[in-house]
Amino acid sequence: MLQLLLGIFGMLIVGSHPQAQPLALENIADGVYVHHGIHEDLSEGYHGDICNISFIVGSNGVAVIDTGGTLKTGQHFHETIRKVTRLPVLYVINTHVHPDHIYGNAAFTDDKPQFVGHAKLADAMELRKDAYARTHKEWLGDEFAGSEIIKPTLAIKDELTLDLGDRQLRLSAHPTAHTNTDLTVIDSKTNTLWTGDLLFVERTPSIDGDIKGWIAVAESLSQLTVAQVVPGHGPVVKDWKQAFIDQQRYLSTLLNDVRASIKKGEVMESAMNTAAASEKDRWALFGIVNRRNVNIIYPSLEWE
Ligand SMILES: [Zn+2]
Repeated sequence: MLQLLLGIFGMLIVGSHPQAQPLALENIADGVYVHHGIHEDLSEGYHGDICNISFIVGSNGVAVIDTGGTLKTGQHFHETIRKVTRLPVLYVINTHVHPDHIYGNAAFTDDKPQFVGHAKLADAMELRKDAYARTHKEWLGDEFAGSEIIKPTLAIKDELTLDLGDRQLRLSAHPTAHTNTDLTVIDSKTNTLWTGDLLFVERTPSIDGDIKGWIAVAESLSQLTVAQVVPGHGPVVKDWKQAFIDQQRYLSTLLNDVRASIKKGEVMESAMNTAAASEKDRWALFGIVNRRNVNIIYPSLEWE
């Protein structure tokens, strides 16, 4: 029997993507699975598997939440899903525009799912696709082969509920925060919240939207009553209130420190070395990400 099963899986793998390997999965609740990428920066040495990618199995089919940073990661994830269930993939949800979360989408096109995202996601993808393709070819070389942007076929302006049969997913689109395309998901059956990159655990939160908007959106998310939270990066947290407290402390320290630097007339380069320094031992990749955050927020805060 085991051999028969192995034979079936073997054929399936060979039949669709010859090199695909299953990814490590964490089964965090009934029908809910997460693969954790590793804490690596998007730059030289990047491998395309750094964020959390998840799937939820309902009685009618499967919803995927984020797909990884390359077609290859997406294909591996697809094969991994197929080892758990043969039900159709009905929805591929992107939590925001960042390339580590979306470039695996193309691995799911044959399933003909609805690709689901924030109402601003398609435009954001269009705006960034040339720059993303250029940098990713440089960083990843052959590993990036076949990776392409797949835009949403279902755009969320405010809220929408997706039906998987015995469970529903409530999707909420947010105003500009981590990015201008942030979408969160709550599974009705297990009361699990996916924040995308509106919450970072362990890894330094990286800003690409509006720091004040992010603090406000995170504050409202922290008021929800959910059982557990899947962040964009880092472990799934049951003590998720504390995770939001940690992130709010980092973001507000960064905001206050940069404001103080501007007030004192310090140039941006010097603020990059000092802002939020009290947080540096608390987060992975702090040096590079914190400097980049200062670089992004300093110019806009100058005009407050
Ligand atoms: Zn992100």
